[in-house]
Amino acid sequence: MYKNSRSGAGRRSGYTVYSSKNHRPPKNRSKGQVIDPARFIKAATASEQIDYVATNSFDDFAMHPLLKANVTSKGYKAPSEIQDKTIAIGLAGKNVVGVADTGTGKTAAFALPVLNNLMRRPGSNAIIIAPTRELAIQIEEQCVLLSKNSGIKMATLIGGMPMGRQIHSLRIGARLIIGTPGRIKDHLNQGTLNLAFCDMVVLDEVDRMLDMGFLPDVRTILGELPGEHQAYFFSATLSNEIKNLINTFCHDPEYVDVKGGETSANVHQDVVRYSGKEEKIELLHEELIKEGNTKTIVFGKTKYGVERLAKELVARGFKAESIHGGKTQGQRKRALEAFRQDRSNILVATDVAARGIDVKDISHVINYDTPQTYDDYVHRIGRAGRAGRAGHALTFVER
Ligand code: AMP
Repeated sequence: MYKNSRSGAGRRSGYTVYSSKNHRPPKNRSKGQVIDPARFIKAATASEQIDYVATNSFDDFAMHPLLKANVTSKGYKAPSEIQDKTIAIGLAGKNVVGVADTGTGKTAAFALPVLNNLMRRPGSNAIIIAPTRELAIQIEEQCVLLSKNSGIKMATLIGGMPMGRQIHSLRIGARLIIGTPGRIKDHLNQGTLNLAFCDMVVLDEVDRMLDMGFLPDVRTILGELPGEHQAYFFSATLSNEIKNLINTFCHDPEYVDVKGGETSANVHQDVVRYSGKEEKIELLHEELIKEGNTKTIVFGKTKYGVERLAKELVARGFKAESIHGGKTQGQRKRALEAFRQDRSNILVATDVAARGIDVKDISHVINYDTPQTYDDYVHRIGRAGRAGRAGHALTFVER
C-alpha cells in the first residue's frame, strides 16, 4: 500500500527494533521528562485480557424504574467498570472524580445518577460541560435516550449553532444543560442562563479542556454555581493543574480510577533506534510501507516539524495529512475527515491537535519525536488498538 520506490523504500537494512533485553541506556533529548526507552517496549496481551465482571447489576442501583427500563432498551446488559463504581456514589449525592478514557461508558456513569436526581428532585438542575461540540452532542444523544419518557427538558449550548434556539430551550424550562465552555459563558454573559439553582455539575474530559485553554472559562462557570452542589469530574489524566481545579471546586471527592495498567494492554510497543535525521526519515519510510500498517498517526513535537514531515511524506508518495496549532479549524477538520474516510492513511500531528480526535481503526501510532512526558505517551498510544483489537506503537529513540 502506497509503496514507493525511492531510496530506502522496502529495505530492511538499518532498521533496528530493540527488544527490552538489549536496550541501551536512555539518550533522550526531550525537554520534558527523561523517559527510559524500556518503558516504550511492551508486548501486547490482547488475547489474555479478561472482561470486567461487574459487582452490581443495573437493577441493584436505587434508580428510578424508568431509567432501568431505558438502560435495558439501550441494550446495556451489565454496568461497565466506571458505571459499576460510579453510579452508586453519584446516586448518594457525593462528589466524584473519575479517571477514565473515552469509550469506557463514562457518559452513562454520570448521566444515570444525574437524571435520577433530576427525576426525584423537581427543584434540581444540572449542567454538563464538555470540551468539544462533538462530545457535547454525543452526550446529549445518550441523555435523550436514557431519559426517554421522563419529561426532562434539555438545552444543548454549543458554538456554531444559533443562539435563538438555545435561548428558547432555556426559556421553556430546560433542567439539564449540556454545552461547551465558550457558549455557556456567552449565555451567562448575556443573562440568558442562570446557574444559581443548578445543584449538579459534570466536567467531562477535563484534561482536554485544559489542553484547549478552557480552564479559565470553566472556572468562571463553576463560580456561578451555588455553594451546595454535587460535582463529577472526569479526566483521562490528573495533572497538577487539574488537581488544583478539583481542590477548589470538587470538595472531598471519591476517586474512581478505571485506567488499569499504565498503558493499553492490547498495544504492541517497541522502539526504533536511529542515528541522525537522514536515517530517521528512511526508517519511518520503511515502517510506513510495511504490511499491516494501514492507518497511522505520526506524532511530532512542534507544528513546524509536523508540517515539514507531512510535506516530506507527501513528496515521497504517501497519502499524508497534518494537524497542528498552525492550521485553521477548517484545515484541521478537513485533514481529519480525509484520515477518517481513508482518503489519507497517515496523519502527522502534534499532541494537542490530536487530543480531541476520535478515529477508531488506527493500526499504528508512531512517536517520531519522543513524547514530553509519559502521560503524553500513554495518551498517544491509546489511539491504537481500540475496541479489543491489537495495535502497534513505535517510538523513535536516538542511538
Ligand atoms: P462512552 O464512553 O460513554 O462514550 O460509551 C462508549 C460506548 O459504549 C457507547 O456507544 C455506549 O452506548 C456504550 N456503552 C456504555 N455503557 C454500556 C454498557 N453498560 N453496556 C454496553 N454498552 C455500553
